[in-house]
Amino acid sequence: MSELPQEILDVAIIGSGFAGLGMAIKLRQEGRRSFVVLEKEAALGGTWLVNHYPGCACDVQSHLYSFSFEQNPDWSRTFSPQSEIRDYLEHCADKYDVRRAIRFGCEVTRARFDEAAACWELTAADGQQLRARVLVSGMGGLSRPSIPDFPGLSEFRGYRFHSQQWDHEYPLEGKRVAVIGTGASAIQLVPRVAEKVAHLDLYQRTPPWVLSKPDFRVAPFWRRLFRQMPWTQRLFRTAIYWHLEGRAFAFTRFPAVMKLIQPMARRFIARQIRDPALRAKLTPDYTLGCKRVLMANDYYPTLDREHVDVHSGGVKGFTATGVIGADGLERPADAVILATGFAATEPLPPGAIIGRDGVDIVEAWKDTGPEAYLGCTVAGFPNLFILAGPNTGLGHSSMVFMIESQIAYVMDALRRMDQDNLASVDLKPAVQAEYNRRLQRRMQRTVWETGGCRSWYMDAGGKNVALWPNFTWQFRLRTRRFRLNDYDWRPHPRASASGAVATHGAQA
Ligand code: NAP
Repeated sequence: MSELPQEILDVAIIGSGFAGLGMAIKLRQEGRRSFVVLEKEAALGGTWLVNHYPGCACDVQSHLYSFSFEQNPDWSRTFSPQSEIRDYLEHCADKYDVRRAIRFGCEVTRARFDEAAACWELTAADGQQLRARVLVSGMGGLSRPSIPDFPGLSEFRGYRFHSQQWDHEYPLEGKRVAVIGTGASAIQLVPRVAEKVAHLDLYQRTPPWVLSKPDFRVAPFWRRLFRQMPWTQRLFRTAIYWHLEGRAFAFTRFPAVMKLIQPMARRFIARQIRDPALRAKLTPDYTLGCKRVLMANDYYPTLDREHVDVHSGGVKGFTATGVIGADGLERPADAVILATGFAATEPLPPGAIIGRDGVDIVEAWKDTGPEAYLGCTVAGFPNLFILAGPNTGLGHSSMVFMIESQIAYVMDALRRMDQDNLASVDLKPAVQAEYNRRLQRRMQRTVWETGGCRSWYMDAGGKNVALWPNFTWQFRLRTRRFRLNDYDWRPHPRASASGAVATHGAQA
């Protein structure tokens, strides 16, 4: 292990997806030079780099699902494919000159707050170490694949991979393939896999509500217009924003409205699935919106094909040669694709983030589940800012909007720390508790709580630790200013010795 470096950087950012990259760009734009982005992969892009399964695309309109300061007139479709989003992020890194701040292949395995030096000590998998005053996590909540502990899985001798670890080298042609899961990833990849394989068995535990996807090619006329008159694109983006924002009424305040959309969703199934028994299997019994509402035009037609079978009730286990369904029957499989989602309620492994007094963030969250203030700061973890943290996810709009709101908050915090010569800011436990008490009270009225389903938004205790139960503009307003009153803080030793912050006093 290398020695601790003497230099203390201003900011270390983990991850180079929308969050980490957006943070780096804002630091660069403000003329800050002392920062680094630590990226475990060999390239940037975060979720849009590592998820590249066939059919991978965004289910939020690209003209909104992009940075507000870098609107792209050239999106090829209303919902762009993964490769285009990854290219867009590459473009942003170059245009805003942050690529040189990224250390690729640098996986941070441990971050520990050093109380005496008021900085974070980071250790990478290869033993490299660095220190930074402020740590920004851009790791996202959906980066750790969830692989259920299916009985016999390790004995399965066929090929298997998770949707996030797609092996494009594996030839699917002519194979008998099992796909497990029917979430957002599965409905995108199933049609592409079905095109190739001899037989596909889809293991569904809970059917999703699926609506049609208004996915169109963006005609050259519009692209030209957006390029030549950028205000037209801003107008379009604003229109999409408010169109989607309107849905928050139904998700978070009046879930009964969701039931009015269900007949339309049922008709969508009926139009595309001929067999009444299959229709019944695919029709959810919970309120639309309780789980993520999915959009696809080719999912149901694929399930209606002769060589595709849907098996309800999930999976009982595996044998060396196949999958045992809930009906107890074993069906042979050459390959198994686990589209089983992510460990969203356990976003960090134990030992990864150690705060004040040596407390592991996993331990701090043991009783409450992941919780933070504005999804960003956690009491006992000074100078740590989490982007896309607990309760910032959305069921109805673009995460990039939430991320940009938090980035503005972090920038304001940095300015405040500089201005007042603060060595550390640590969220007051009472602020965190009160914020989360109100948030969870607000949550009770949402469709996620009342809709009668079990989703990945909930932790083991049934608490929704993933979603923001309100309008996104309310989040934007709340993150506009960093309020020092919400924090305990310590002045920089030099500043305090010189009396520069005497009027504030140390509250650590
Ligand atoms: P997911 O929505 O969590 O779906 C996982 C699927 O695996 C579900 O159908 C789940 O069934 C099933 N499953 C999990 N454990 C199982 C078990 N033990 N036995 C049987 N089935 C099991 O995961 P995802 O599809 O990867 O999507 C996760 C999130 O990523 C999405 O909600 C979305 O936020 C994001 N995403 C976004 C896009 C996009 O276009 N923007 C695309 C893909 C993903 P149950 O429903 O019964 O739990």
